[in-house]
Amino acid sequence: MLPYGRQSIDDSDIAAVSAALTSDWLTTGPRVDEFERTLADFVGSGVEAVSVTSGTAALHVAYAAAGVGRGDRVVTSPLTFVATAAAATLLGAEIDFADVDIDTGLIDPDSVAGLVGDRTRVIAGVDYAGVPIDVPALRRAAGDVGALIVEDAAHSIGARRGGRAVGVAADLTTFSFFPTKNLTTAEGGAVIGSDATLVAAARAFKNHGLVRDRARQRTPDEGPWHQEVHSFGLNYRLPDVLAALGISQLARLREFAARRDQIVARYDAAFADADDLTTPVVPADAEPVWHLYPLRVPAERRRAIFETLRADGIGVQVNYIPAYWHPVFEDLGYRRGQCPNAEDYYRREISLPLFPGLGDGDVERVIDSVLRAVA
Ligand SMILES: *Cc1c(COP(=O)(O)O)cnc(C)c1O
Repeated sequence: MLPYGRQSIDDSDIAAVSAALTSDWLTTGPRVDEFERTLADFVGSGVEAVSVTSGTAALHVAYAAAGVGRGDRVVTSPLTFVATAAAATLLGAEIDFADVDIDTGLIDPDSVAGLVGDRTRVIAGVDYAGVPIDVPALRRAAGDVGALIVEDAAHSIGARRGGRAVGVAADLTTFSFFPTKNLTTAEGGAVIGSDATLVAAARAFKNHGLVRDRARQRTPDEGPWHQEVHSFGLNYRLPDVLAALGISQLARLREFAARRDQIVARYDAAFADADDLTTPVVPADAEPVWHLYPLRVPAERRRAIFETLRADGIGVQVNYIPAYWHPVFEDLGYRRGQCPNAEDYYRREISLPLFPGLGDGDVERVIDSVLRAVA
């Protein structure tokens, strides 16, 4: 079965991980610092990167740093992996699901504007498939309620919108480095921010809220062993062994993105004239880094087409079931029908294989199979 996504590991990655494994540091050593610096430099000037153990941890950290808690509301997109909403729910917030743009699948600022209220603490958009959200439009939608913008950029590291790199526009941006994503540390993620207070809060939450700086401690004279917890947190520390992989993968990201672009261009061209197929729509000011290739087919035939492709050995996926369809949200009172565009997108969507190691022959095989399946 051809997978829909797959990591690309070469000798440079293996050498980097081997060197970390035989060094003095397996975790929280020099490679974590180097990865965070390299990542911040890659994103843009003026930002800091806080590495964590997954994209889900990154969202949890970002919401915690934004002060999300009981009584707060978070507006987000339902066309995402459930973690975008679940991480805020775990902090006690209630979720308002905004609908998406019917063409792009990106959170719709007009829908957001209709949901924002005094208790809205965060508006969290998702860079679906690798196409960045419109952060300035979301800020306008937020009006003057003081909500922060969190960008779930699990799909889009290296992309740009309105001439700005993903990571510099939102208050906090989160990455995932899961193997199918655009670069991998096996499990891993990061939070990007430029506001010193938000970044410090993120750093505290990922490491138990520990304060080791004596100048900030309440009882610094306790002894040389002393450290204090000033706020509750968790252990979301990325190990050095995985940071080593992140450093070598980041050096390869532009090459990965270029190959992903080529494949997307070939898919787009092959499906452009097919009546029953809708290829991904990109806003004029967006420069995506493609994580998914979300093809849309007639809803009533989606399941049959999906099963035909799987039977052909094409490992297609569906991204995503609307988050509030999950029973955990249904049990909280969320109902089907509330975001018609997201539901329509979901009902028609099939993600085709897309990863740097996908050969030209594989791409043609996917195209043939799709065209036969929809004929
Ligand atoms: C993958 C993903 C996550 C979660 O990242 P993990 O590293 O798997 O925890 C969150 N949001 C989106 C949109 C994702 O695709």
